[in-house]
Amino acid sequence: MTDATQRARKSTPYWWEAAPVRPLPEQALQKQVDVVILGAGYAGLSAGLTLARAGRSVAVFDAMNPGEGASSRNGGITSGSIRPGFAKLTRRFGEKTALAIEAEGKRAREFLYDFLKTEEIDCDFRLTGAFRGALGFDQYDVMARAAETLAKRLQIDTYAVPHGEQRDYIGTEFYRGGVARMDIGGLHPAKFHAGLLRVTRAAGVAVHSHTPVTAITRDGAGFEVTTRAGKIAARQVLVCTNGYTDGAAPFLRRRLVPVRSRIIVTDPLPADLMDRLMPKRMMMSENRQLGFYYRPTPDGSAILLGGRDSSFAGDPVEPMLRLRAGLTELFPELRDVGYTHSWFGNVAMNRDMLPRMFEKDGVLYASGFCGSGVVWAPWLGRRAAQRLLGERIEEPSAFDMRPPAAVPFFNGRPWFMPAIIKGFALQDRLALSRAIR
Ligand SMILES: Cc1cc2nc3c(=O)[nH]c(=O)nc-3n(C[C@H](O)[C@H](O)[C@H](O)COP(=O)(O)OP(=O)(O)OC[C@H]3O[C@@H](n4cnc5c(N)ncnc54)[C@H](O)[C@@H]3O)c2cc1C
Repeated sequence: MTDATQRARKSTPYWWEAAPVRPLPEQALQKQVDVVILGAGYAGLSAGLTLARAGRSVAVFDAMNPGEGASSRNGGITSGSIRPGFAKLTRRFGEKTALAIEAEGKRAREFLYDFLKTEEIDCDFRLTGAFRGALGFDQYDVMARAAETLAKRLQIDTYAVPHGEQRDYIGTEFYRGGVARMDIGGLHPAKFHAGLLRVTRAAGVAVHSHTPVTAITRDGAGFEVTTRAGKIAARQVLVCTNGYTDGAAPFLRRRLVPVRSRIIVTDPLPADLMDRLMPKRMMMSENRQLGFYYRPTPDGSAILLGGRDSSFAGDPVEPMLRLRAGLTELFPELRDVGYTHSWFGNVAMNRDMLPRMFEKDGVLYASGFCGSGVVWAPWLGRRAAQRLLGERIEEPSAFDMRPPAAVPFFNGRPWFMPAIIKGFALQDRLALSRAIR
């Protein structure tokens, strides 16, 4: 096979076919606003909308087209998950904090679903439910216990699916049962972003595309923000640059590792094959360190699968081959299938893998969504805006925290990622060989 035939036909996101990202018409730079926001992804726009509706003047700057970061590239799975998982969170923080974190995930998901409805954002959202596969019967037991606790303590609609019933959820023998979460669904991420951008601009927020912020400096009680288009004064500054953070936010850049995540999309598949592989058209995931997330396209005709991409420069073919191999390990029937799209984007990892908002030297940050920002970014963007407004919140956010720890020997270029990914791959091979199968 040549390099060209191994690749998908397009290297741009599948989602851009129906909702392309575009520059906005140029507009004059205001001299002064209440709040400047860096980043026009879900987090920055959600914050801008909340602030504008509370009467604040807001300017949002993005270095690229709005949404061209992760917010139009992702899998569209409304997981709102926290990477360490409930069992690990309980071991690390105790059950009370683990439950508070899960409870906030529940509120954040409900907020998103309600927001889509109230703002009439048509983004193919369906509350399909999600299935998470267990590698072995021992892992299944741990997952089933966590589901039971979440159902009992937080009334989350989740339950264990034993191996014998797995085929009703997914057409693979790879897993040894799993857990269903009926509060998770799928949306079209670029249509969601376009809808959010529309309502945010309609609320009076000035969104400037292709206008990177290059410096933020303290100026009396406020800030002077330098952009490609000139300087602007702001009383407050919020940084929502997540996996695309650059030198304009050096404090954050030392604390947030951008990691590539890649998605591939199959050619359209026969309806009876889709019925066998994804009978309920649910969202899918698993527990491996380098685990895959996958789902049907919104029209239910093809499969979209994502996972880690170990490259950090250029667009080599190997990450796509790893994803193809992963998909055929799950579904051997897809061995000879072709691929329409393969693309990557950056997710942002903190050392402790918890998203958060935090303040440093008067600047507020909302980031570190660890690959689950479809739910967390709009939510924490809104919570950050409420903090800037000085609003008294009934329940404080479990993610209003201290800054994450700095990553040693790191200044924005994740040179160590290929080695870390190799280590994770080894851990996954060991976990699979030790799993009770
Ligand atoms: C391939 C992939 C698959 C994913 N799948 C899922 C999924 O299925 N479910 C899920 O929940 N999450 C998923 N995610 C994660 C999710 O997409 C992100 O967490 C979320 O979009 C983050 O939104 P954001 O607004 O924080 O950042 P982004 O949307 O990344 O926006 C940050 C913006 O900041 C801008 N910026 C950076 N520096 C500057 C500067 N100096 N001046 C001005 N602008 C600047 C960038 O141009 C960028 O547009 C996935 C991510 C990827 C890449």
